[in-house]
Amino acid sequence: MSAATFVLTINLFIAAIFAVSFGVVAAYQKTSDAARWQSAAYGLGVFNVVLEFILPFQEDPRLVGIAIFLDFLLATLLIVVGLARHYRQPVPWRVLGGILAVSTVTILVIIDWPRGSFARMVLYQAPYAAVMTVGAWVILRHKAKRALDLILGGLFILSALQFLAKPLLAAAIGSGASPQDYINSTYAAISQTAGAFLLIANGLLILLILVRNLMEEMTARSETDKLSGLFNRRGFDDRVGPGIATLRRTGMPGTMIIADLDNFKAINDTHGHECGDAVIVAFARLLKESAGEHFIVGRLGGEEFGVFMPGVEASGARLLAENVRTRFAALVFPFSASLRTTVSMGVSQIEPGDSHSDALRRADGALYQAKREGRNRVQVASYSDDVMPEHPMERLASR
Ligand code: GH3
Ligand code: MG
Ligand code: MG
Repeated sequence: MSAATFVLTINLFIAAIFAVSFGVVAAYQKTSDAARWQSAAYGLGVFNVVLEFILPFQEDPRLVGIAIFLDFLLATLLIVVGLARHYRQPVPWRVLGGILAVSTVTILVIIDWPRGSFARMVLYQAPYAAVMTVGAWVILRHKAKRALDLILGGLFILSALQFLAKPLLAAAIGSGASPQDYINSTYAAISQTAGAFLLIANGLLILLILVRNLMEEMTARSETDKLSGLFNRRGFDDRVGPGIATLRRTGMPGTMIIADLDNFKAINDTHGHECGDAVIVAFARLLKESAGEHFIVGRLGGEEFGVFMPGVEASGARLLAENVRTRFAALVFPFSASLRTTVSMGVSQIEPGDSHSDALRRADGALYQAKREGRNRVQVASYSDDVMPEHPMERLASR
């Protein structure tokens, strides 16, 4: 087995492993078809190695030679399409299509040129360099680049340079006069090895990036309430816990608000569950809009919501709560012109040494008081409210 054949065999497995791996990621990725494009690209890569294997056995190698060229080009094009999908950019169809069209004509012209000719080499490799450059451009023009994305962009530039360097290397050490000579040449071994290295590095990085995003996507989904789009209880708790620890460390003030819609059961009973959902969504939007980006807003359960406001004292939080309360009471719903809904809220400043559950418990106590005093009101917990009625504790425990 020649060195190049050996590397080809390895390439076959690598391409197959990536095709399958991307296929697996594609099965889980609901929001993007990026992995599917990559899987298809590496599938073409597998086919490409098969073609490389049968090439030396062809009496007239031209047809398979052209197929190898176009198949590999198509594979690189699909990778770039997949990247554009991943980075949510318009796929540069015209540029990619243009490269494919020009390259198809070029390969038909140069296939009979002497293999060692420098011009043939340059024309053979240039399309790949062009596709890799487009790939680098797609990656690097993406705004929210992180370390892995930057490395991938750099690797694509390196790949482009590698394709441009190939003719120079071939000119320097020779690449064999026939396909049979080529497969046994040192040039083929170097060229295939460099190709394998970039194949692995690029494939691995793209896979890592897709898996990274997939995990972030899944985490976000597990922390988000589907109906309201707010954090669910888990997402809320996972942020409030460290937030309170920061307050404790820095001595900064902070406030917790808990809101519960009033007589919500009656809305469900009178107008149906779907209308109830619409009310929950409307309140969530109002709350999120009022709280802005700096505060953590969650749907803690049914029609109960929490806002964690680090850096804000109870007086400030009360203003926000009052504003939300009055705006919510004035909301008109499309399904019933006469329906007016209200909300009660408990506001509690987080005291030094308070734990997460202390903060919730005190806000919940204030909420309970607001309900008791007639609903549609904001109640601020006073510092001396520490002896809580049993009721709110039970409510918390049953959440
Ligand atoms: P109160 O003023 O004392 O809060 O009275 P309430 O009727 O709002 O009482 P409570 O908070 O116990 O009722 C919550 C109701 O919310 C019970 C449940 O049927 C309803 N609910 C919980 N989750 C959902 C949901 O996702 N959609 C809808 N439509 N209703 C929900
Ligand atoms: Mg309620
Ligand atoms: Mg409730």
